[in-house]
Amino acid sequence: MAGSRSPAIGIDLGTTYSCVGVWRNDRVEIIANDQGNRTTSSCVGFKETQRLVGDAAKNEAASNPTNTVFAVKRLIGKRFSDPCVQSDKNLWPFKVIEGNDDRPNIIVNYQGEEKHFAAEEISAMILTKMKEVAEVFLGCTIKDAVVTVPAYFNDAQRQATKDAGAIAGLNVMRIMDEPTAAAVAYGFDTNEVNSSVKKNLLIFDLGGGTFDVSLLSISNGVIEVKATAGDTHLGGEDFDNRMVKYLVEEFRRKHMKDISSNPRALRRLKTACEQAKRILSTTTQTTVSIDCLYEGTDFYSTITRARFEELNVDLFEKCIETVAKCHEDAGIDKNNIDVVVLIGGSTRIPKVQKLLKNYFSGKELCNSIHPDEAVAYGAAIHAANLSGQGTEEISNLVLIDVTPLSLGINVLGDITHVIIPRNTPIPTQKSHEYSTSADFQSAIRIKVYEGERVQSEDNNLLGQFSLSGIHLAPRGETNINVTFKIDSDGILHVSAKEPVSGTKEQITLINEEGRLSKQEIDRMVQEAARNRMEDELFKEKVLAKNSLEDYAYSLRKLVKNNDKASGEYAKSIAEAVDKMIEWLKHDVPNDVYVYHTKKKELEEMSSTLSRMSL
Ligand code: ADP
Ligand code: MG
Repeated sequence: MAGSRSPAIGIDLGTTYSCVGVWRNDRVEIIANDQGNRTTSSCVGFKETQRLVGDAAKNEAASNPTNTVFAVKRLIGKRFSDPCVQSDKNLWPFKVIEGNDDRPNIIVNYQGEEKHFAAEEISAMILTKMKEVAEVFLGCTIKDAVVTVPAYFNDAQRQATKDAGAIAGLNVMRIMDEPTAAAVAYGFDTNEVNSSVKKNLLIFDLGGGTFDVSLLSISNGVIEVKATAGDTHLGGEDFDNRMVKYLVEEFRRKHMKDISSNPRALRRLKTACEQAKRILSTTTQTTVSIDCLYEGTDFYSTITRARFEELNVDLFEKCIETVAKCHEDAGIDKNNIDVVVLIGGSTRIPKVQKLLKNYFSGKELCNSIHPDEAVAYGAAIHAANLSGQGTEEISNLVLIDVTPLSLGINVLGDITHVIIPRNTPIPTQKSHEYSTSADFQSAIRIKVYEGERVQSEDNNLLGQFSLSGIHLAPRGETNINVTFKIDSDGILHVSAKEPVSGTKEQITLINEEGRLSKQEIDRMVQEAARNRMEDELFKEKVLAKNSLEDYAYSLRKLVKNNDKASGEYAKSIAEAVDKMIEWLKHDVPNDVYVYHTKKKELEEMSSTLSRMSL
């Protein structure tokens, strides 16, 4: 490792699970969290006294459903009015409302107050957790990170993820596509990164909430994304939901009761279904058994792998269709795909593997890289490279990403004219010349869209701005030059210029309305620091309380077991200790100082006692 700079980490910020890795001693280490798990639930829970992030939050989700927030990756960078947000929010036990500028706001009860959080803030809490996991392991403060996003993420979603990093106090060196990260991991693992034989890789990533397919080529250290396709709304959770729906029906049939409007019963059923689904990846039949599921009625059912497959087969087939679309887009025949790499927890489902293998005419799928860790692994390598801490072996790596969606502007007839077609390697810059559509037009409105449809209204409006004071002339005689530039984070900068008058306008941050402002981010950074401090105080309080409790119990034992410690004084100590233990059961003051003082009192008594016993 070069110099004494703290290392840069790679974070896979997943919808359901997140993972962190670091380049150390010439290899990647995937870092286990405080529970010993190498992936951490992307979950945040709010309680009366404390905030839980990660596995602890998921553990308590059942008892604290409305204040346990998960799957914010489905919200980040999206508008509240987005149809996906509208349908998702009805499925979640926590509340999402419309905030400023059509942004979704998450509402929870924390420390007895109603609190509103942006998706960026919740993501920041998860990023902070991953940062801390790395800090404990490495014993130093971490500043720099590479954070991954699905290839299908649009500009706003990438930008919002970057903002989440800023709120977490991280310098996000690069937003990296998840499949690219997986390809880096694969290339490094097989040592094909530096091979001169060009290979086509298909990365099939089926996770908890998102599905991504990408076609990449790899040779001589150059990894190039050729095409991407995917679905931001397809993954393991959907398979769980299908099973839940099926079992709700079964419950209705067996017990003549409808549990579908009881959130607690549904949640318990869903947890059981996810468990059953995982088991069905290795066995052909399992049971779902829940005591007192609804109105005192127990639920017991067996489910076979065949049934599970039947419930989901259309979703699985959709995955295969997406694979076809991806390589057809890239103009690469499926026979020219050399390796199919599986990542994401849901690729463990045998039927998914089988359909994929059939599609590729019996080709063996690559299982050698870890489906849960590959993305963080690749991100860690990239982070080391960017910070100059990697070894020569990996520093030759060149990554070329592509734009996931076509980008263009609205022209006469409300049609989107594409300036940068989808799957263009980035960073990139492209310009196009337009002319005025009316006589003596003095201003022109540039509306920027992303999407593959012809009519602008069917595409996604990213942002707009006006160019005024342009040269006055009959229609068609004034030219306007529009330039689209995509930087290496995949973020779009748009400018327009009218050369005669020299008027120029530029927006670097598309989708301003949907984004957090600088002031808002600053406020969130402060709030995050305050939350962290509160977490620290809480931890300190728990430690102080435990230490006092330990001491009280050991002193009680000492007084009881020590014959010499008889007499009035010993009795008074025993009484004091009993009182203290009783007090600890009922009183939980917030002030750490109280515990310290009480412990000191006990310590003084104890030392007097030992002097007397001599
Ligand atoms: P993400 O990247 O979207 O956060 P992951 O790649 O970590 O998600 O995958 C999580 C999903 O994988 C969850 O829906 C989980 O239920 C599913 N999963 C994990 N292990 C298995 C398994 N053995 N069989 C089927 N699904 C699994
Ligand atoms: Mg993932």
